[in-house]
Amino acid sequence: MAEQNSFETEAIRTQIERSQFLEHSNPLYLTSSFVFEDAEDMRASFAEEKQRNIYSRFTNPNTSEFIEKLCKMEGAEGGYAFASGMSAVFSTFAALLNSGDHIVSSRSVFGSTHGLFTKFLPKWNITTSYFKVNECHNIESLIQPNTKILYAESPTNPAVDILDLELLNTIAKKHDLLLVIDNCFATPYLQKPIQFGADLVIHSATKLIDGQGRVLGGATVGKAELIREIYLFSRNTGPSLSPFNAWVLSKSLETLAVRVEKHCQNALIIAEFLENHKQVEKVKYPFLRSHPQYEIARKQMKLGGNVVAFEINGGLNAGEKFLNRIKLLSLSANLGDTRTIVTHPASTTHSKLSEEDRLETGITDGLVRISVGLEHSDDIINDLNQALN
Ligand SMILES: *Cc1c(COP(=O)(O)O)cnc(C)c1O
Repeated sequence: MAEQNSFETEAIRTQIERSQFLEHSNPLYLTSSFVFEDAEDMRASFAEEKQRNIYSRFTNPNTSEFIEKLCKMEGAEGGYAFASGMSAVFSTFAALLNSGDHIVSSRSVFGSTHGLFTKFLPKWNITTSYFKVNECHNIESLIQPNTKILYAESPTNPAVDILDLELLNTIAKKHDLLLVIDNCFATPYLQKPIQFGADLVIHSATKLIDGQGRVLGGATVGKAELIREIYLFSRNTGPSLSPFNAWVLSKSLETLAVRVEKHCQNALIIAEFLENHKQVEKVKYPFLRSHPQYEIARKQMKLGGNVVAFEINGGLNAGEKFLNRIKLLSLSANLGDTRTIVTHPASTTHSKLSEEDRLETGITDGLVRISVGLEHSDDIINDLNQALN
């Protein structure tokens, strides 16, 4: 890779070639296809003898700019942009796995990813075994001769547990597995899994990358030869990111560093406030000393992220009551927005799980998840405080 400027500069200055109008800000290319000079140009383009845009299901200047930026920020050789985080997750597995293959995954993965593993991939005879986040020593016992991928998220949703990326990589390399990490909660500003040996990194760009609750998007970045397969799958099946959303997300990356920095500052203030509140039994935030994987978080993350989980005194009832008393903050399913969002997983997003499954992923009855936004921390605290008291 060519020599790079710093993270913030690449995020701002990576730009597709300017058009004849020499626009300063990046233009939006709303076009489904591109024209050819002549028959030879068209033939050579389809034969991939030239790198150029053919059709926006394959590539488009806006999606290329977005993914090039993200690759520089993650330190990846290549990448492909998707319509959502889930289309990135699905396309990655679908492109790289064959019928009969096996995945070893952390049990604490995004709900729809878990749905993909349990309900859909088995249709193609692709099976998954799970390890608990705090039992990484069990991973090797789950590996089979047909295991191809080791998959994890860190920090996890909604319990903000931390998995040791270096350890995962050691296990993956020893058993010749691809290490695939969903880096959505951390963003490349806080954590770069490729530096720890990950082969591929997946993002839901819908969360902190957009950061303003506007558009859906996703991406997979990493080793060029793997990305090539993912590109070919996607080119044929059509889960690609729209040019408009790519344009929005490319702009969003320009401010990722300052936004995430402030999100994390706010989150730490909120975590410390909660830790001292008498209605709160326990707080989990990666950069609080009380977090069970504090040392690992410090090793692999620049700051603690924007999600704080806490245990409210009084369980399920207290959790629902707390939500009903919230005034300023939002009750919503999104996260990583400028607006602080509060959820109570046991009564909402994870209510369909059995109690045993919930507890296994750290979702106790009184667990509340806060995606801390960019409002003034005093105002966030005031709302939390009046709802808790
Ligand atoms: C939201 C999320 C996804 C899915 O992303 P969408 O853009 O909603 O499809 C995947 N992984 C994690 C960790 C997420 O938080």
